[in-house]
Amino acid sequence: MTMPPASRLRLSVDLDALGSNYRALARLAGPAACAAAVKAECYGLGLEQPARRLWAEGCRDFFVATLPEAAQLRALLPEARIHVLNGVLEGEVAAFRALSAQPVLNTPEQVALWRQAGGERPADLMLDTGMNRLGVRPEEVAGLDLSGLNLDIALSHFACADEPGHPLTRRQADRFAALSAGLPARRRSLANSAGIVEAPAALFDLARPGIALYGGVVHPALEGVLRPVAKAEAQVIQVKTVPAGETVGYNATWAAAAPTRLATLAIGYADGYLRGFSSRGQVVVRGVRCPVVGRVSMDLVTADISAVPAVQPGDWATLLGDGIPLAEAALWSGLSQYELLTLLGHRYERHYCAERPAVRETEAPHPEAPEHEARVTL
Ligand SMILES: *Cc1c(COP(=O)(O)O)cnc(C)c1O
Repeated sequence: MTMPPASRLRLSVDLDALGSNYRALARLAGPAACAAAVKAECYGLGLEQPARRLWAEGCRDFFVATLPEAAQLRALLPEARIHVLNGVLEGEVAAFRALSAQPVLNTPEQVALWRQAGGERPADLMLDTGMNRLGVRPEEVAGLDLSGLNLDIALSHFACADEPGHPLTRRQADRFAALSAGLPARRRSLANSAGIVEAPAALFDLARPGIALYGGVVHPALEGVLRPVAKAEAQVIQVKTVPAGETVGYNATWAAAAPTRLATLAIGYADGYLRGFSSRGQVVVRGVRCPVVGRVSMDLVTADISAVPAVQPGDWATLLGDGIPLAEAALWSGLSQYELLTLLGHRYERHYCAERPAVRETEAPHPEAPEHEARVTL
């Protein structure tokens, strides 16, 4: 067997931090239960290891966007309740049944489709309380024929929970309480990550965090509560010193004011390190923060390493995590924390690290359990 060639990009996912974040959010959400949004392969971190860890932490409800994601997850977690947010269309019912996945019904037509298919399998119902993206409109709710439906969760989704005090959050919570009150659903669910802390009075039965599980601090009240989960690194492939007046990169957008030591890194916008980082981002090399200079190109980016002239080709530079908080990197790039994580591409060699085996919150920790490190490269 030949080894795959080594990647110059490394993504490390700290499963203990993921577990800690799940427990922290579950505590904040209590007594409501805590689900996990794992769509887009856990926001770019990869589905398998994070989903298994969430299950081990006690998570039982998993939200994906699409049927193919549901199929991927079903292969990993045979007993999980899998909810498919983007609903069900004609021709997909059999696939839902085969996967024991439950659609989030978003329109009266989808409700009718699921009922005609039997309706005895559980499904969820999305109510549109002001996002105006997916969901049954408020004026349609009273006219829904839900007879024969096995309705698990009535849910809605916040548009602005990451903006403290935004009036729409309160309005959505009130609308949801009123609209869902008479529905024959077993559970009600409203809060995403930010909603858990922004609207603690509107947690109902189940919270559905996503980004916060993966270390996204999307609300001031989550600061200090969450641990960073992802670390992205790229290798230095060339170093050089340029004289004052030289420019760097496409369109010569940055010029050296003095003789400058530069490092070229093996990452670019094809790897999700978008052009917003051009002359705005920072990277950490040998423990020192260095500014990105010039335009990010497709596969390369250049940093001013004058503060650490000892840097050599082969050194690893950190672009995210470990000294570069996700929220700060997002600000530099003009991207949201969501985009930054989910853009992490497939060129990365992914490492999943866990120092301690997963411990259920209800169980006593096992201090005598041997420390071990599991590294899996995908
Ligand atoms: C993505 C999503 C979530 C999770 O949102 P976060 O802001 O990542 O916590 C919850 N509910 C729905 C309907 C979603 O689409």
